[in-house]
Amino acid sequence: MLKTTGVPDKALILTRFPDDVILGKPKAITECYEPIPCNPCETSCPFEAITVGEDINTPPKVDFDKCTGCGICVYNCPGLAIIVAQLKNDKAYFKIPYEFIPMPEVGETVHAINRAGEIIGEAKIEKVTLRKKQDKTALIDVSTNTELIHEFVTIRRMR
Ligand code: SF4
Ligand code: SF4
Repeated sequence: MLKTTGVPDKALILTRFPDDVILGKPKAITECYEPIPCNPCETSCPFEAITVGEDINTPPKVDFDKCTGCGICVYNCPGLAIIVAQLKNDKAYFKIPYEFIPMPEVGETVHAINRAGEIIGEAKIEKVTLRKKQDKTALIDVSTNTELIHEFVTIRRMR
């Protein structure tokens, strides 16, 4: 499906997720499936939790024992191919990259969007972070329903 539509199927997506127990803490999910010459995820992580390795074409691998869910790799990935996911207090939490304006506001209800660009529910903006070092890629903290943990990937504003 990835080859024909650009959208990964569920089985492929699940290869990037740890189990739900590990997701009790925030963890980086790298959705970089094809070999490409790229490694800012590896070089930006202060905890050495992402490995691309000597062959820069190798897709990144996350060491979930080392990943703190800080989100630094999220805004350093030029492909916007990383999110941070967490299951906590009967909700799913995410940190996502965002490069549209106007920015969403804290407390705003937005559409939850899947990897095919479809609306799959609602999400709430928890935090918006945009510091100079992020080079115009904001880090948006979002909460939504736990059932969307493997489906949600981004947001769309309602207004
Ligand atoms: S979320 Fe933070 S700790 Fe985890 S891989 Fe990304 S930069 Fe490293
Ligand atoms: S920085 Fe992003 S696009 Fe580049 S290898 Fe890492 S996850 Fe893939």
